[in-house]
Amino acid sequence: MHEMGLMDAVLRTVERIRQEQQLGPVRKITIEVGELSGVVPRFLEECYEAVAAGTPFEKTELAIEMAPGLARCEDCRKEFRPVNTMLRCPACNGEKLTPIAGRDMTIKEIEVYDQE
Ligand SMILES: [Zn+2]
Repeated sequence: MHEMGLMDAVLRTVERIRQEQQLGPVRKITIEVGELSGVVPRFLEECYEAVAAGTPFEKTELAIEMAPGLARCEDCRKEFRPVNTMLRCPACNGEKLTPIAGRDMTIKEIEVYDQE
């Protein structure tokens, strides 16, 4: 499953940042998923549990936020927010669409436990 690899990569990245910045245990990871990324949040959550099991992230909370997608029509240059099933430009009915936002999945925030 695609999401499994993504989640694995997220945890590797967070762990690297944690070590670089000498942070303590991570309380919460917030990731942002673009609407056009094709990533399914429900699958991410399932994969997260599997990937985090037996690691220092076992008790780390995962929060998923959606980022709106944006596409541009190459015929009339209109920018619009595509709905899943709508693959045509709402202005000119063109089909040459370029996604310009919401294609990625990024780590938005890493929260660590307060350290006394
Ligand atoms: Zn158009």
